[in-house]
Amino acid sequence: MNDTLTRHAQAKIDGLAALSLDRRLKPTHRLDGVWVERAGRRLMSFSCNDYLSLSHHPAVKAAAKSAIETFGAGAGASRLVSGDHPLFEVLETRLAALKGAEAACVFGSGYLANLGVIPTLVGPGDLVIVDELAHACIWAGARLSGAEVVGFRHNDVDDLATRLEAARAPSRHALIATDGVFSMDGDVAPLDQLSVLARRHDAWLMVDDAHGLGVVGGGGGSAQLFPRARIDLQMGTLSKAIGGYGAYVCATRPVIDFIKMRARTLVYTTGLPPACVAAALAALDVMEAEPARVAAPLRQAQRFTARLALPEAQSAVVAVVLGKAETALAASADLESKGFLVAAIRPPTVPPGTARLRVAFCAGHPDEAVDRLAAAIRPWLAA
Ligand SMILES: *Cc1c(COP(=O)(O)O)cnc(C)c1O
Repeated sequence: MNDTLTRHAQAKIDGLAALSLDRRLKPTHRLDGVWVERAGRRLMSFSCNDYLSLSHHPAVKAAAKSAIETFGAGAGASRLVSGDHPLFEVLETRLAALKGAEAACVFGSGYLANLGVIPTLVGPGDLVIVDELAHACIWAGARLSGAEVVGFRHNDVDDLATRLEAARAPSRHALIATDGVFSMDGDVAPLDQLSVLARRHDAWLMVDDAHGLGVVGGGGGSAQLFPRARIDLQMGTLSKAIGGYGAYVCATRPVIDFIKMRARTLVYTTGLPPACVAAALAALDVMEAEPARVAAPLRQAQRFTARLALPEAQSAVVAVVLGKAETALAASADLESKGFLVAAIRPPTVPPGTARLRVAFCAGHPDEAVDRLAAAIRPWLAA
């Protein structure tokens, strides 16, 4: 035991606690798409990204079980060695078709996808320009690449243009990276305008649609909202609306072939278990067969924003920004006492001074519960 290590960790925790920024795991039993049990209490969750309530869908669970029986519990190796079980190709073909792309590559998770894809395509001498509110794993991938990394103001096309003009010329390749639907704000990136700028400056456009797939654009994701946008890299996760685990990136065939050869988070990690891949395929079946399910999360989010006179929701995610971390924690505790699970989101996940309730709407939420939640949050907006 190295005692300075223990003291180091304790001092760090004490520092975070003093700022209300310490965090603890809370065992949570998700009973179905919307109900959870925590510390013996049943709560209705508005903090799950299971937007289509597919994680507990009978067909999705059955597909996962059946894949375990047929292909085993694990992939056994990296995909490039012997872990490329037959379900991968089926899922990749399916995702590419859904995204209107030539090809797709499935990764172990969204974090791994962004950490692998970006450094495969850009490196020292190149430029990555990232929306300041883009997900942490886009920033992590960009920094890992060794390229010059520049942020631009959130959804601000003029700021992006200025920064491209300043930084594009000396760099060999340039990549613009953004969320399609922003994970902590729920707003949508102006992909048509980003795409125009990308072409004007010979930059590639990468969109992380973790919160768009299954929810906006009729389920196809944020790119469907901008039919004229040319998006070179369409990335997303299978862990949110798709209800399971894993992720993907779609692009042209050579780009995907190269990613499969070189992305370190694909090459040096074990393939996704067959059950995850089968579950994703079954979830896509449900998604495509049930447009009413796909429409539900956005409809409920808009019902909520209308009740509270907030700007109309653009996705299943609504941010109720309260400012101080303590206020967000107190609001979350108050909602829990009323039977709702709505997590407080604090820095560093969101910028300092913008601690919030992040409310996520799912297909399984009844209208009546959305209305009760809005009524319970209203006093916090006035405070
Ligand atoms: C959740 C999320 C990820 C990470 O996906 P995982 O599959 O959970 O690792 C990546 N990008 C965005 C925008 C996300 O919200």
